[in-house]
Amino acid sequence: MNSTTQILVVGGGPAGSTTATLLAREGFDVTLIEKEVFPRYHIGESLLPSCLEILDLIGAREKIEAYGFQRKDGGYFAWGNESWELDFTKLRHPYSFQVVRSEFDQLLLEHAKSQGVKVYEGTEIRGLTFDGERPRSAIWAQGPGDTNTGEISFDTLVDASGRAGVMGMRYLKNRHYHDAFQNVAVWGYWRGAGRMSFAPDGAIAVGSVPDGWFWGIPLHNDTMSVGLVLHKTTFKEKRQQGKSLEQIYYEAMDECPLILDLLKNATFVSEQMKVEQDYSYMSDKISGPGYFMVGDAACFIDPLLSTGVHLATHGSMLAAASIASMYRGEVTEAQALHFYEHSYRHAYLRLMVIVSGLYMQYRGKSNYFWQAQQLTHNDYSDAEALNEAFLFVVSGIEDQNDVVDLPKELPIEGMAGQLPPEEAERAKAMYQVYHKVFLRSSMSAETAIEGMYVTTRPHLGLALAQSERVMTA
Ligand SMILES: Cc1cc2nc3c(=O)[nH]c(=O)nc-3n(C[C@H](O)[C@H](O)[C@H](O)COP(=O)(O)OP(=O)(O)OC[C@H]3O[C@@H](n4cnc5c(N)ncnc54)[C@H](O)[C@@H]3O)c2cc1C
Repeated sequence: MNSTTQILVVGGGPAGSTTATLLAREGFDVTLIEKEVFPRYHIGESLLPSCLEILDLIGAREKIEAYGFQRKDGGYFAWGNESWELDFTKLRHPYSFQVVRSEFDQLLLEHAKSQGVKVYEGTEIRGLTFDGERPRSAIWAQGPGDTNTGEISFDTLVDASGRAGVMGMRYLKNRHYHDAFQNVAVWGYWRGAGRMSFAPDGAIAVGSVPDGWFWGIPLHNDTMSVGLVLHKTTFKEKRQQGKSLEQIYYEAMDECPLILDLLKNATFVSEQMKVEQDYSYMSDKISGPGYFMVGDAACFIDPLLSTGVHLATHGSMLAAASIASMYRGEVTEAQALHFYEHSYRHAYLRLMVIVSGLYMQYRGKSNYFWQAQQLTHNDYSDAEALNEAFLFVVSGIEDQNDVVDLPKELPIEGMAGQLPPEEAERAKAMYQVYHKVFLRSSMSAETAIEGMYVTTRPHLGLALAQSERVMTA
């Protein structure tokens, strides 16, 4: 491995490979270091239509289209007493994919190599050295028993190391877990599951149960990923009662007719049940001198709306545009960091409001699980930013559904609960609006953040809302 690189990316998941590819395509010297040798298992299989935009941007659309993943035309929610379908075919990007992540992530990483990224798999970043706050080099180790070790210096670090979070967990120690969405997921894979003839083709099935909800994701290899999400307190209680993961999973499933029906002729094929805490968090700071944290390394939101890969790759685009403009001298480092910090936070907050809003649509709210998904002051210290996010989302819904009479000043606590009574319709609108909220966010002068937005032509970079290029201060 070289002893120096312009940009070091840690982690080869969707955030790492997307950021690295975008920067390599802009002509920068990029090295990506990934701990595992791909393909490696990962949860997070249901993608949103926004992935098409990102795949186009990194030039990998054809490869992914040709691979044969399950196409996803929407979703089906059996939510309390309500049920509704989400039809992506009416959106600007009319479909998405359900992917086996080991295969999808490997395709993206191979694509990064093909675009000039120097990729080292089976290599772990063990530590960083700093010059003040600025990370300057990384210590890496390879092979069984660390047969090979070394140090690589860099100008800019992109931390895309996922939940392990090299910067956030080891150095900054600044991950803030929300009070809302303190959930645990238990899941496994089934062969021979049925299809929902009443829902868009390849849809994700989401079915609520009194203590949480189930996902059912059909995959191209004839398996279905089926997972239960429940609150950590309920999970702990059940474990203390001596219940196994299997008991917790199957008992909950008995209360979910949607999933039971899909699995009536199916066989459970996982060796064992998988379990993971999926508490939502945001780091107090996601960038600083010489570093950008992207994807799960920066923040994570409850999987209800399948937003993880979307948020990771959206963040990749924001980071790559900021870094590219910074290196070209179009913005100062301070401006690039400022834009990145604010635009990614806005995207995150708006999503968090949508997810909480959808939880609040559930009519059996008296149950603990559903109350625990409501945002409070503790979930985000910047009350103004959270209110802004809520208003932004609501105004997006207004555009789509002509919903009127929303209060202009909304208290944070219980804000999602203040939505008008047509809850199912509203929930549907909230889901649909994500597309608008995310794809257009920070991508045009109208949706500029801090006076700047991402432009992809003639280069990927930042532009001023007044349509002048940002000049170096
Ligand atoms: C229960 C559950 C269900 C989910 N469902 C969905 C879903 O349906 N749809 C969706 O879009 N998202 C979903 N997600 C979220 C999704 O899994 C993540 O948001 C997504 O994988 C984030 O991508 P990433 O690139 O940031 O991180 P990752 O994909 O985790 O990649 C990080 C990479 O960094 C590597 N790494 C870590 N430490 C080091 C180190 N020290 N040195 C070198 N490499 C390192 C890791 O090996 C890993 O490959 C779900 C999450 C959970 C918990």
